[in-house]
Amino acid sequence: MSADAIRSEGEAYREFRRLRWPPAGEPVCPRCGTKRICELTTRPVFRCRACRRDFTVTTGTPFAYRKVGFADIMAALAAGPVPPSALSQAIGVNYKTAGILRERVAQVAAVGFPAAEHETWRARSRRRAQAPSSPPRPSQPHACPDV
Ligand SMILES: [Zn+2]
Repeated sequence: MSADAIRSEGEAYREFRRLRWPPAGEPVCPRCGTKRICELTTRPVFRCRACRRDFTVTTGTPFAYRKVGFADIMAALAAGPVPPSALSQAIGVNYKTAGILRERVAQVAAVGFPAAEHETWRARSRRRAQAPSSPPRPSQPHACPDV
């Protein structure tokens, strides 16, 4: 196994975040598209300040109901379109898990990560309206206020 394949779960989580929300991994609400997000302190769950939707980095992606860790997901994404048996060997998961991972990776390879759960004209026009006026401000989400 290459050193590249051995990643900590936390590192893999951050990598997955950057992949999902490039380039900085700054969360975007999958429902309304806003970046006004706060992060729960107890779990890796984000909360939209606009529509109150709770979501995670995998919400709306083929990995939403994942049973595997981020390290395995990142390893599978890196491995690319290999047969489940090869993937199973490469990243050390059983054949069934490798088959599921392989399928999800193929979905992401085909269509990419969705920007939103339900792209609406409202969200799209809001994004368009925001785009030219405000320069991108990279901001990490802060803890949620008590609600
Ligand atoms: Zn929202």
